[in-house]
Amino acid sequence: MKSSRVQRLKKAEKLTADGWSEKNGMKDFEPSEIIVEAGSEGSPLYRNLRKAFPDVPFTVVNQTDAHGPAPFASQDPFGDGKTRLVLTRHKGDFLKKCPGSDGQLCCNYFVVNFASNCPMDCSYCYLQEYLGQNPALKVFSNVGDLIEETDRLLSRHRRFLFRIGTGEITDSLALDPYIGFSSEVVPFFAEQPNALLELKTKSDRIEGLLGLDSKERVVVSWSMNPQKVIDADEPLTASFEERLTAARHCQEAGYKLGFHFDPIVEYPGWEVDYREMVERIFAAVDHRRIAWLSMGVLRNTLGLKRIMRERFPSTRVLSGEQVLCADGKMRYFQPLRVSMYRKMLGWIREASPTVFVYLCMESKEVWRQVFGFAPTCEKELGNRLVAYE
Ligand code: SF4
Repeated sequence: MKSSRVQRLKKAEKLTADGWSEKNGMKDFEPSEIIVEAGSEGSPLYRNLRKAFPDVPFTVVNQTDAHGPAPFASQDPFGDGKTRLVLTRHKGDFLKKCPGSDGQLCCNYFVVNFASNCPMDCSYCYLQEYLGQNPALKVFSNVGDLIEETDRLLSRHRRFLFRIGTGEITDSLALDPYIGFSSEVVPFFAEQPNALLELKTKSDRIEGLLGLDSKERVVVSWSMNPQKVIDADEPLTASFEERLTAARHCQEAGYKLGFHFDPIVEYPGWEVDYREMVERIFAAVDHRRIAWLSMGVLRNTLGLKRIMRERFPSTRVLSGEQVLCADGKMRYFQPLRVSMYRKMLGWIREASPTVFVYLCMESKEVWRQVFGFAPTCEKELGNRLVAYE
């Protein structure tokens, strides 16, 4: 039977009340149905899904169109799209340059999309607008093509060090225990002399990573927020403690770590919560194993705000004043952003004077005010990032 988003959120609340080990709603992710495009049955991901979900109905269809199966006739097609999983071949290129944002400094990052949409449901998630017409939760079965394409790119440019991430239009790890994607790609990246793979997540589903030898070519990174923000605006994600424990386990298993303080949300008393968050992270992990930290304040568009009001009417993240920036995104007023970044940077520097920190989707002007310098171009920022590897 199809479980609606509301049912899933209720389930997550119930689990939260039950205790630490079951706190993460993602531990109970179970799609109502799995739709398989004919031809995907030979994929290791299909076999893994079969094993993970023996009681879920699988329907093989001859062709899924670009938008996946017909959307649910529901008041919340985006939320309900997350409850049905589609396994299909990816047509076209897997790899692309991170689109960044007009006029903002970009960190020269490549993204590889192995899936689309995410089983978690953050109130501010830009996918609600970006995938609004295409909300099906999709996983791409042709991982072999993804690896071949990446191999071709890396082999052609051996003198360039690539940073490649998988968390642009999905969470890198939330589905991993069910599809086993990491066990397909980590061994490949472990052998690449000129690439770092970043797996970015708000889950704690690292079990598939722990037995693999990444040979220091894989960075596992967490988007971090104080528990107050997680409780209010990041439904179905892992708690702060769970993310931190997972990070520690990954560090022990030989992975490099990353942390993204993004989105930083301003509210009365935010300084106390964010300072404590930074201190707890640095007390728990070895700062010398952190490849990079990023900071970015909450940003959205007018369209996303409209969707958030409908889907999350009680969210408080819409209450702060925001201004329209040159790239069409709304952010806090620049002096407030600069002040927030400086405070965050100060707390980070108290814990680690050397860890590499960068800003996500901010202008050179903001960079200068926060760090006293701005990279001259995207290439320089990319080089600074990989210089830390
Ligand atoms: S974890 Fe990331 S991709 Fe998933 S809902 Fe939250 S913001 Fe969106």
